[in-house]
Amino acid sequence: MYGPGDVRIEEREEPRIVEPTDAIIRLAATCICGSDLWPYRGLDAWDWPVAMGHEYMGIVEEVGTDVSNVKPGQFVIGSFFASDNTCEIAAPATRLPASSVNVWAGAQAEYLRVPLADGTLVEMPGIPDDDLVPSLLAASDVLGTGWFGAVAAQAAPGKTVAVVGDGAVGLLGILSAKQVGAERIIAMSRHASRQQLARGYGATDIVEERGDEGVELIKKLTDGLGAHSVMEAVGTQESMMQAIRATRPGGRVAYVGVAHGVELPGHELFFSHTHLHGGPAPVRGYLPKLIDLIWNRQIDPGKVFDLELPLDEAAEGNKAMDERRAIKVLLRP
Ligand SMILES: [Zn+2]
Repeated sequence: MYGPGDVRIEEREEPRIVEPTDAIIRLAATCICGSDLWPYRGLDAWDWPVAMGHEYMGIVEEVGTDVSNVKPGQFVIGSFFASDNTCEIAAPATRLPASSVNVWAGAQAEYLRVPLADGTLVEMPGIPDDDLVPSLLAASDVLGTGWFGAVAAQAAPGKTVAVVGDGAVGLLGILSAKQVGAERIIAMSRHASRQQLARGYGATDIVEERGDEGVELIKKLTDGLGAHSVMEAVGTQESMMQAIRATRPGGRVAYVGVAHGVELPGHELFFSHTHLHGGPAPVRGYLPKLIDLIWNRQIDPGKVFDLELPLDEAAEGNKAMDERRAIKVLLRP
């Protein structure tokens, strides 16, 4: 990306092993993230140009001398942060080591260098059937992030979970809440096609209104109390306040949308009596479970990819997502 609205496809040098803990993978599929729209819309000031892409799956081509778990020829998937899996707070953890290694950029490509390959990459049970590719790719970020939303929301049997945001993360937050047994799932969405997908993933109610009106409707659906928890999957002031206000006292707000310009009013928060838990999802820790669910065809998160393009047409893919013509775009190198 050379600047807002300016995506170009160009030949770059092939990545090579730099650290002995690196692996090089040849991508089978990659995609455009909703979070790419922040810079695309000029809402993130970056040092242009930036190599885009942080969601990936593919075949290991080469590994560094210190890599022992990952071998050439394996089909692997990883998440958007490199993980050394030594963090004592959350293991296996999302953790950025002191050096500037990350997987944050450059995955919209044919090849990718993955740092800390032993901790970051998870091997699949075999060569995936082609129809499983979108779902496995979704696990790389949006499904893992939606799953974290359900975990942070403490979605469980007997609980009502509302979801603010009908992008890929919100929709897969619904899928995740359903998987962990939430009784009632309220999707906040104004788009017919996304509502349909939300229902397919387990939403029991749809609220089209936003802001105060949306909050009132959620209270109406929950005996005037508010939802046990609300997943916030957008990252704006409006969506965050909608989530806090739609949550009952003692309930939980799980915020997984990348916050942009969100300012929390302390006084209102004080009296809201809500728990707030969010941030970048520790996707790596969920990958083995998510791969298993997908491999055994128990979940189908790949449906969020409603447009598939060759990598060469990444510019059109960004445009389609920006104009909300597509929920999420899969790119085939
Ligand atoms: Zn992403």
